Order: sequence, then structure tokens, then C-alpha cells
Amino acid sequence: MWRLLLVAPLARSASLCDKLAGAPGLSEICAAPAEACVAAFGGRPRASCDDVCGAAGLACHGAFDDLNDDGRCPAGEPVGCGRALFSKVCQCGVPGAAAAAIPAAAAKPAWSPTDCELLSREILAPADAATGALAVHRLRFAFPANGSWPAAPAHVKARAPDAPGQRMRVRAYSARVCDDGASFNVTVKIYPGGPPATRGTSAFMGALPLGGALDVPQVRSLRWARPLAELGNVGIIAFGVGVAEAVEAVEDVLAASAAVVCLFAAYRDASQILYRDRFRALLAAHPGRLRIRYYLSRAAADAEDVCVDGEETVPRRLDARRLRSEIGSWDPASSRFLVIGTGSMEGAAWSWLGILGFEGRRLFEGHSGWRNFRAPPAPALPAAPRRAAAPARPRRVAATGSI
Ligand SMILES: Cc1cc2nc3c(=O)[nH]c(=O)nc-3n(C[C@H](O)[C@H](O)[C@H](O)COP(=O)(O)OP(=O)(O)OC[C@H]3O[C@@H](n4cnc5c(N)ncnc54)[C@H](O)[C@@H]3O)c2cc1C
Repeated sequence: MWRLLLVAPLARSASLCDKLAGAPGLSEICAAPAEACVAAFGGRPRASCDDVCGAAGLACHGAFDDLNDDGRCPAGEPVGCGRALFSKVCQCGVPGAAAAAIPAAAAKPAWSPTDCELLSREILAPADAATGALAVHRLRFAFPANGSWPAAPAHVKARAPDAPGQRMRVRAYSARVCDDGASFNVTVKIYPGGPPATRGTSAFMGALPLGGALDVPQVRSLRWARPLAELGNVGIIAFGVGVAEAVEAVEDVLAASAAVVCLFAAYRDASQILYRDRFRALLAAHPGRLRIRYYLSRAAADAEDVCVDGEETVPRRLDARRLRSEIGSWDPASSRFLVIGTGSMEGAAWSWLGILGFEGRRLFEGHSGWRNFRAPPAPALPAAPRRAAAPARPRRVAATGSI
């Protein structure tokens, strides 16, 4: 199927689509961003984008080899306006408008409905080439227009722009809404790498300038397994940056229940500990109800660390035996647990909990399912006559992809 993408920086999409409505083979027009529209063709015209745009009195501002099939009509790699046959997407604009005004490979508009503006960046831990430690950044993003946030701790999907060799660069991140109710933050470990070898979504976020846009197509909320007021003891095991998700869970449980909370956080060494001040504030605010144990797998034998009441550092890896010494006496029926880390880390931690009789005693029983972070109203389709009979291609709901 052949598709035609029109971008009009100086005119409304409907008028541009109207101009192309008579193009041979046109079967479908689906507008995505306000200033663009995509036209599908029942047959592949033997014409270049120069020809197609020119026939409608428009200028070719870019030709693309492919669409990104995520329902929002961006284009793939630019291939040149004059090339025919393998060009499936044309970017047409008002003649005389500077083609350079349209980003070369970006049929995606500058701001899509799910783009979130980066408001601030805080480097919680710097990268350290000597030890191989990776940087951890806290990034605060504005909600997209009309964005709404679920009531519980949440995950978002972030998507870096397509790049050579990498599309659907979607990754999940724990996110929490900020006090202003209009922004959220994510805590991201910045992995080296990126296209074409790896997806590089964290690297993209690590390099995003203030004011830049991150596409956040979807959000899901975690579901508490039982009402907070009915919770007995709560154990949270977090590995590295996973502790970001623990912050909100600990705050919510302490605020809305009488539970004792024990946080086991595993790091390489004390310099990697995240959100220590925040947890210390919670220790002070809820005396006797919060215990924090930092397990440091590579702490130097002579490393010194000053702890406050309720906080302890252990220069060892966490394991079932150490868990037993802390929570072995807890009642399995009323105790609940949250484990956050990579799949293998989570698997190991749940097996330790299983040994202690806490198998399946989850603090969250799942999640609400991904929903579009903002479901924009469907853009009005131009009132263009449809010539070909090919059925409209169903649109996919939103960007997904493995995380
Ligand atoms: C539900 C959920 C919530 C998540 N929350 C967070 C969060 O709050 N903060 C956060 O930083 N990450 C979080 N992640 C992990 C995140 O989704 C990505 O996996 C991570 O950012 C790496 O993506 P990338 O595209 O940058 O990696 P890539 O560019 O694909 O990989 C870069 C390099 O890092 C390695 N790598 C990739 N992922 C991992 C990993 N998880 N552990 C070890 N090595 C890895 C790769 O092997 C490769 O060498 C979460 C994951 C899930 C499933």
C-alpha cells in the first residue's frame, strides 16, 4: 500500500488534503497531527514525490521509504524527493516555504499530543569510568496537554525517536507525579549504547536538552493487592535504580496504614545509594515504623558509612539468610512484598521470599493495563472525495513494543 504524507507548515491540513484528494490511487486519508495528513493509495503510483506533490500544486519537502506503523503517520528514512518506486511517503508543503523548516527525517510534528517537555534534570549519581558505574538522572517532565495521572504508583512508556537501525524504541519506567500535579518524574539509569546496535532509550533521555520533548505514549497504574489500611508488615526489595519505584510505595504505605515497612535496597557501594535524604525524612517522620537496610555488594572492607536511626548498611549481597534475620518472624498472612529490579534479580528475591513462606504475597497484584497517556480527540478528516475502493487500514492504538 502506498501512502502519502502531507505537511503544511503554513496552511491547514484540510486544504492540503483537499488538493491531493484527486490523486490517482488515493484510498484513505488519516490525519494524525493537526498540520499533517496521510493519504493511502490503493495502487503504487509510478511517480516520485516531486511528481505527486507537484500535481497538487505543492512542493515536495521530503520523501520517505517507509512509515512507522504506529498509527501516527511519521515517516522512516528520507530517500529524496525525486526518487520513485520505493518511496512510499511524500512530505508535501506549500511551495516556496523553506523545506528546511520541516525537520529532514521527521514527519512527526515538533510536538505530538503525547510529547512531554523536559522541565528539569538532576544528576543523582554521576557516571564513573573508573568503576564502570553508570549515571542516574532524575528527569521531570510536564504532563502532555490534558494529561491525567492514575491515583497509584505508575509506570510510563517512553519512546525515543526512530533512528537508523532502531524503531519502536519504547521502554517502561517507574514514574511518580510531582507535588505540582502537573508534572511527573522518572529516575533513569543511563546505559551506554544506542542505535543502530541497541534501542538506547535511556541514552536518549540522558542527552535530552531542557525544553526538549519525550514521547510518553502510555501510562499504567499499579494496583494495591489489599486496601492500605489492612496491610500488616510490608517488605520492599529494590535493586539499584529500582528504588525509585519504592519511594512512592513507602510513602503511601506509611501514610495510609499502620504497617511496619522494611526496605532492603541493594547497590554496588554507598556512593550509588539513591533517595537517601528522602528516606531519612520518612524515618524521622515515622519513628519505629520504617527500617532501611542497604546491601552493598562492592563496598570496600574499610568503607565507613554513617547511618541514622533505623538505617543500616551491610557490606554484603542480600540473600535469603539475611532476609530471614530481618523478617523471618513476620506473619505470612498479613505481610506483603514489593520486589523491583531486573527480571533475574526479581526472580531471585521472590525465591528467597518463597523460602521464608511469603510466596506470592505481593503488595501490588498487577496493574491497570496500559492506557494512552492522553487520548487526543480524533482529528477531523478533510472532506476529501475518496476515489479508490481499498478498505481503510485499521489504526493501531498506540506505540507499544517490548520493554
Ligand atoms: C516495568 C518496568 C519499569 C522500569 N523502570 C525503570 C526505571 O524507573 N528506571 C530505569 O532506569 N529503568 C527502568 N526500567 C528499565 C528500562 O525499561 C530499560 O530497560 C532501560 O532503561 C534500558 O533501556 P535502553 O533502551 O537504554 O537500553 P539499550 O540501549 O537497549 O541497552 C543498552 C545496554 O544496556 C544493557 N541493558 C539494557 N537494559 C538493561 C537492564 N535492565 N539491566 C542491565 N543492563 C541492561 C543492554 O544489554 C545494553 O548493553 C524498567 C523496566 C520495566 C519493565
